[in-house]
Amino acid sequence: MESAHHPPVGRFAPSPSGPLHRGSLVAAIGSYLSARSRHGQWLLRMEDVDGGRVRPGAADAILRQLTDLALDWDGPVLVQSRRNDLYQAALGILQTSGYAYPCACTRAEIQAAGGVYPGTCRHGLPAGRSPRAWRLRLPEAPSSWQDRYLGRQRGRNGGDPVLLRADGYFAYLLACVVDDGAQGVSEIIRGADLLPFTPSQRTLQRALGFPSPAYGHLPVILGPDGRKLSKSSGAAPWQGNAGNAWQQALADLGWAPPPAMQGASAQQWRDYALAELRQGKALWEGRHQ
Ligand code: GLU
Repeated sequence: MESAHHPPVGRFAPSPSGPLHRGSLVAAIGSYLSARSRHGQWLLRMEDVDGGRVRPGAADAILRQLTDLALDWDGPVLVQSRRNDLYQAALGILQTSGYAYPCACTRAEIQAAGGVYPGTCRHGLPAGRSPRAWRLRLPEAPSSWQDRYLGRQRGRNGGDPVLLRADGYFAYLLACVVDDGAQGVSEIIRGADLLPFTPSQRTLQRALGFPSPAYGHLPVILGPDGRKLSKSSGAAPWQGNAGNAWQQALADLGWAPPPAMQGASAQQWRDYALAELRQGKALWEGRHQ
């Protein structure tokens, strides 16, 4: 799909559950550099499909942070909460083809089964039960794909994942695939915390007739307590100015810039990084397995 004549289409898709922190910065800067260093587009999408996790003001704060970082995006920002009709239409296609099936299980029942949905409703609802949610029927065979930084991956997401939740919200899993497909995204560069979703997202792409994009999963940044930084758990936004934030993100990707870059502005860091990549430097050496 990608060639010299078809530059990549990349994207950054934050959930507005808080401002960007050191971990989400790596995904923002990494996806930007990957697409822009090959003269591609970089799209921006607010993944606010899960209304319960949205924090007021977070989307604006993220846009301000990206502007301060000199990360310019193409076109309007796509906002998922305005696109329910598209997700509904995609679910309709999956229902018709049998990829989506209704599920009656409650959270308590899944908890009692060890916390992983055991496939109770895969072959039909148990007698007397009504549908609460819709799930994706995953293939038996594990999915295998080449990750740009992690090498060959094989995996299957726990049990069949939810597409439409019992509370009426569409799942991130579905909305993300529909939007990546609709926006013509050709490469998905994001944190490795999202790696467990990739097999189901690849299944969904096939089921909905979208081409499969290239994937590259970047390192996950851990907090001092050894746990992943997350916006919703209130991880601190980056320290200092936007130039320092660039320096931090590149250090997290294993770069060792020359001392002359000390104190550079965000724009100078961006142009430096783009020039390095265009001369063949790797965004991240990766962890090929
Ligand atoms: N919205 C997701 C998050 O902020 C990222 C989705 C993606 O990059 O695929 O964790």
